[in-house]
Amino acid sequence: MTKPKIWLSSPHMGGNEQQFVNEAFDTNWVAPLGPNVTGFENDLETFLGNTSHVAALSSGTAAIHLGLVLLDIKPNDVVICQSFTFSASANPIRYVGAIPVFVDSEPETWNICPIALEEAILGQLKKGTKPKAIIAVHLYGMPFKVNEIRTIANKYQIPILEDSAEALGSTYNGQKCGTFGDIGILSFNGNKIITTSGGGALVTNSKEIKEKTVFLATQARDNAPHYQHSEIGYNYRLSNISAGIGRGQMQVLEQHIGYRRAMHQFYLDYFETIEGVSVFHEPNDSVYSNHWLSCIVLDATVLGKTAEDLRLALEAENIESRPLWKPMHLQPVFEKYDYYGGTVSEHLFKNGLCLPSGSNLVNSDRERILAVFNRFFG
Ligand SMILES: *Cc1c(COP(=O)(O)O)cnc(C)c1O
Repeated sequence: MTKPKIWLSSPHMGGNEQQFVNEAFDTNWVAPLGPNVTGFENDLETFLGNTSHVAALSSGTAAIHLGLVLLDIKPNDVVICQSFTFSASANPIRYVGAIPVFVDSEPETWNICPIALEEAILGQLKKGTKPKAIIAVHLYGMPFKVNEIRTIANKYQIPILEDSAEALGSTYNGQKCGTFGDIGILSFNGNKIITTSGGGALVTNSKEIKEKTVFLATQARDNAPHYQHSEIGYNYRLSNISAGIGRGQMQVLEQHIGYRRAMHQFYLDYFETIEGVSVFHEPNDSVYSNHWLSCIVLDATVLGKTAEDLRLALEAENIESRPLWKPMHLQPVFEKYDYYGGTVSEHLFKNGLCLPSGSNLVNSDRERILAVFNRFFG
């Protein structure tokens, strides 16, 4: 008999989600608008603080797409993007016909490297093109070096699109991730820290930009009794059913962050005495990660075994783990674009592993994980 699967990160309901969904059915708000959409946006605005305005959308990818539209990115404009990320950070650059330029990470937060970023800006300026936006990502929930990146962005007057899809609840100097960019985005996909089954949001500190986002996300209808359009629109609004799930999830978000952080502590404790394994951790007290996924890096020269060996050992026990994101500049679809930096992200991809991190993991799951570790590292 095979043991039940232990997932990397799976949906974890709090209990009240179905109540909000039932309300939507009872009142026939089965549409991409309604009380749950407004309620979910209010919950997120309260949680994020810092005068944020939130537009709930159908996905994080849609939010990045609309973010680029709002930043007025046009065909053949250059957009700088962190290379070490999920492809959804970069794909929307192509949706608007712009040209991605990829930048390596720094080893502390694994996010966009300030030095390589400035090299990229100067390199593009030398070619006669000024980058129109910077997409920076808080990968695995770890805040990027906000001050350093913001200083460079301001120096060259380039807006930041903050991809906070993995970092809801993470903070930098006490301020919530998602609120640092000229535009921020969140994701509520099934594997994220909270889920609406599928969904996302655009975060802005401007009421007007929120209204413009909702306008664009609902087919850009002008104010007229007939259907009148002066702009290209999109169908990107979140469904009132999904938003109901989101409202229930917001009630347990802090709890989920606590569980994820406890999983991270569990790995820190175990690997403290294992030579050749480092657990990805907060570099200093000013950053607080939701630890969406716990990650390790293996030194094969010390261990005599690789991250892939460990992945296979876990898989044999029906435990999911996964290599770190493959950098965009190494992806067949993006390899022809400019890249600035060294081999930080490439090294992480080759030697790293994401471990089971869900907020719904229980002691018996942890025991099964430990049993594999003890055999593998023992
Ligand atoms: C999940 C994710 C997205 C995309 O969000 P979806 O809601 O799945 O479209 C974008 N960027 C990063 C870094 C992500 O992890």
